[in-house]
This record gives sequence, structure tokens and C-alpha cells, in this order.
Amino acid sequence: MDELSGGIRRLTFPLPLGIPHVHCYLLPGEDGWTLVDTGLGLPGAEERLAPLAELDAPVKRIVVTHFHPDHVGGGEDAQALTAARVLQGAHDYEQCERVWGTPDWSERLADYLVANGLPEETASELRREAGTFRPFIRYAPDPEPLREGDEVAGWRVLELPGHADGHICLERDGILIAGDHLLGAITPTVGLYPDSRPDPLGDYLASLKRTIELAPRLALPGHGDPVEDPVKRAQEIVEHHRLRLDETAAALGQEPRTGYEVSVALFGEELDASERRFALAEALAHLERLVREGRARRGGDGSTVSYTGM
Ligand SMILES: [Zn+2]
Repeated sequence: MDELSGGIRRLTFPLPLGIPHVHCYLLPGEDGWTLVDTGLGLPGAEERLAPLAELDAPVKRIVVTHFHPDHVGGGEDAQALTAARVLQGAHDYEQCERVWGTPDWSERLADYLVANGLPEETASELRREAGTFRPFIRYAPDPEPLREGDEVAGWRVLELPGHADGHICLERDGILIAGDHLLGAITPTVGLYPDSRPDPLGDYLASLKRTIELAPRLALPGHGDPVEDPVKRAQEIVEHHRLRLDETAAALGQEPRTGYEVSVALFGEELDASERRFALAEALAHLERLVREGRARRGGDGSTVSYTGM
């Protein structure tokens, strides 16, 4: 456990795939600690969460920034071990239930990706992978809903959609508990998925603009080092997407191309199934933004979706 400024503590858990770790934060309060995010629900919860039992005061509440497995997955275990209240964005929990609470999510996702050009072979691999991961997504059921402007132990709740539709952050005295809204070394993924809001990149760019206006002096992210200049970092990410939108537009022509074909143009051929899934969802988020900017047209033949340039 690391001590950060303002008495905030950081608890870091290793992750088995992709990004090697996730950070959870402990915020001090008059009645006890607020834990932000819960890691993945891997076996060995008691050992993993032992540092919580050694705190000088009880964990009174658990706040979830968004429903992705590495943030929400350890919720049930954390709640059982602390008996704390769990709070999660109202919209985020609805999506959490739609995705992890329904048995056919991996099927719906695979069908959707195939409709956007993903080869059937890669889709089958994704269906298999989803089953392996599912047992570690143990979110706490029926959390108390949080909305924009709510206050939790003196921290203000901000809805900053983009990386996830219902992503929330906490802000107090210029410190932003950022979840994956703002990361230092890597760019948060923004993807279009079934049942998600129609223009996640548009949402994200608006959230970044809001972050720049808010001008926090420090952001504590879910992965990587604290972001010492959140405004500069938000500006860099806006610029990153501006360039990627131009690359995406350049990958389109008169002939219709699927999201999959565009993802190959943007990210290359050599991706494993899981990386391809993120690449395709990311390409689709950029394509849908281009459609709204009048720079691309969505079409298709009823079973396959495709895009043309304008
Ligand atoms: Zn994350």
C-alpha cells in the first residue's frame, strides 16, 4: 500500500492479462475509509484484501468507477470482507447487469463483431475466451446508485462517459480519482459495443473538454503513475483522437469497407483475438464519430455494416 498526497492510499493488484496491474484508492474520511474500485475477482480474496483489515479505521464504503472487470470484478469479495456499502454510477450498473448479468453477452458481442466484418474464426475464439474470464467478474449486486453532482464523503461525483458509458470520477480540492477516464502512459480505449451509447468517442471528447475546464491539479488513475498535469494529458488525448479520426477517414473510399477492414488498416494484421476485439470496437467508435461529423456514411446489406468515405 502506497501513501499519496492528502492521506490517500493506493492499493495495487496484479492482473493476469493485458495491463499488468490495477490501482484501487483509499480515501480518508471522518467515519472511515472509502475504497475506490475493487480489482478483479480472482481467487484468494482474503489474502489479497488483507491490507484493508490492517487500516486504522474501517472501510465504510466502496465506490466503483466503471463496470470493466478489473474495476468491478472484486466487488462482492470486498463487500463481504468489509461489510461496507457499495456505490456505483446508476447508468454504469445498468450496463454492468446487461453485460455480466446476462448469459448471452459473449454471444451477442461475437454476432455484433461478425456483422462488422470480424472473421467467424476469430469470433469463435472470443466466445471461448469470454467463458474463461467470466468467473472472476464478481461484482457486488444492487449498489446504491450515484449520479452527477452527488457527494460521497466530501467528494463530488462527476459523470465522465467515454471509456465506459457510465464512467464516474470523484473530485475534491483539485484531486481527480480518475478510474480509466484519464491515464498517463497509455490512451484509454474507447469502443463501440452492442447496447452502448451510439457515439462513445463524441462522449469521450466532451468529457476530456470538461476535464480541461475543471483543471484538476492531480489525477489518480486506475493504471500507471499519477497524472501530474491532467489538463496537458487531456489535451494530448484529444489530439491523439483527432489524428486517429483523420487516419480512419483516410482508410475509407468509394468502396464500402467494414469496421474490421478499417481496423486492419489502422492497427495491422498481427493481433490476437482479444486485441482484435478492442481494435475493431475502437475503429467503430471512430467511424461513428466520422458519420456524425459528416465525413463518412454508414451503409450495409442488412447483415453486414459497412462505411464509405465522403
Ligand atoms: Zn481498467
